Amino acid sequence: MKKKPILVTQPFLPPLKEFIAYLERIWDSKWLTNNGQFHQQLEKELAEFLGVNHICLFNNGTIALMVALRALDITGEVITTPFSFVATTHSIVWNKTTPIFCDIDPQTYNLDPTKIEELITPQTSAILPVHVYGNPCDNEKIQAIAQINNLKVIYDAAHAFNVKKAGNSILNWGDLSILSFHATKVFNTIEGGAIICHDEEMKQKIDYLKNFGFADETKVVTVGTNGKMNEFQAAFGLLQLKYVEENIQKRKVIADYYCKGLAEIEGITYLKIKPNVKHNYSYFPILIDKEKYGLFRDELYEKLKTHNIYSRRYFYPLISNFPVYKENTSACESNLSIANKIAEQVLCLPIYSELEIKDIDRIIAYIKIK
Ligand SMILES: *Cc1c(COP(=O)(O)O)cnc(C)c1O
Repeated sequence: MKKKPILVTQPFLPPLKEFIAYLERIWDSKWLTNNGQFHQQLEKELAEFLGVNHICLFNNGTIALMVALRALDITGEVITTPFSFVATTHSIVWNKTTPIFCDIDPQTYNLDPTKIEELITPQTSAILPVHVYGNPCDNEKIQAIAQINNLKVIYDAAHAFNVKKAGNSILNWGDLSILSFHATKVFNTIEGGAIICHDEEMKQKIDYLKNFGFADETKVVTVGTNGKMNEFQAAFGLLQLKYVEENIQKRKVIADYYCKGLAEIEGITYLKIKPNVKHNYSYFPILIDKEKYGLFRDELYEKLKTHNIYSRRYFYPLISNFPVYKENTSACESNLSIANKIAEQVLCLPIYSELEIKDIDRIIAYIKIK
């Protein structure tokens, strides 16, 4: 019998019995969405768990990004990274603002702060960095640049659930941070997302924006959209929260195991997380150097597929190379040499809490034997 395929990730599902208990309460209340009891409870519990002041739940991370840009009245140009999931840039364009791609740091794969300032023009109003693979950006430098140039900072923290630096949540950085709770993320509500903000006033503004601008039954105070999370998602989230620490711990064991197993292989490198960072092990990216390893990234990717192992080339193609962006923005190939190089070399290996050690052994063995 053919082995079950191993995908890059597999969502954690809480015990069905526990979810049914929540469903029974939803059936009793007949309250399915619109700031219901589980929605309120999840906002409260998540803020406490993550160590942030305010959280606004959303139906997905992309709508959360779009609303975040609206909430800060971003106009003109937004400096961002091409090395991310397309939603990062799409949200900028949906807001009728222009993405300006900045190259990344070769060690962290995050926006390189030393290359931001040369891209600032009188039209620039914000910086939108991404904590790629949950690895924290250089927030001190980004903050300093934003302050001097009077720019807003919105972090796409879709990968950074519960990541801390020196004991503090990195979600408190910048003006706003957004999270994604998509099924493929460390913490999921099937589909879902959130904006983290610092004060009551901003939370109110975002809550209006995600609910058509309704302030009460008859009053519409802003041109809002529908970004609401429903009660089924929120209940699912409450259950996820119960298990998330344990699941992150299991991911850590897997990541450590990969690190050990891959350490000696010529031409394979992996992301180094700084010791003061509490990581979430959301992804396990490796870089494949063809000269030293002997195979191109795509050759290894195809080879793993023949063994029923489905790694993913996150993030390839680079956002700036998708035709919709290549033809329509001021992104210039030569400015993005590091990002282009990493996008050609990166491969994300399977990682999820229920991945078994014997399967990791197989994956490492396939990488070793060329
Ligand atoms: C997943 C993801 C998003 C989008 O989140 P959705 O909840 O799927 O809409 C945005 N940015 C990054 C970097 C992501 O990985």
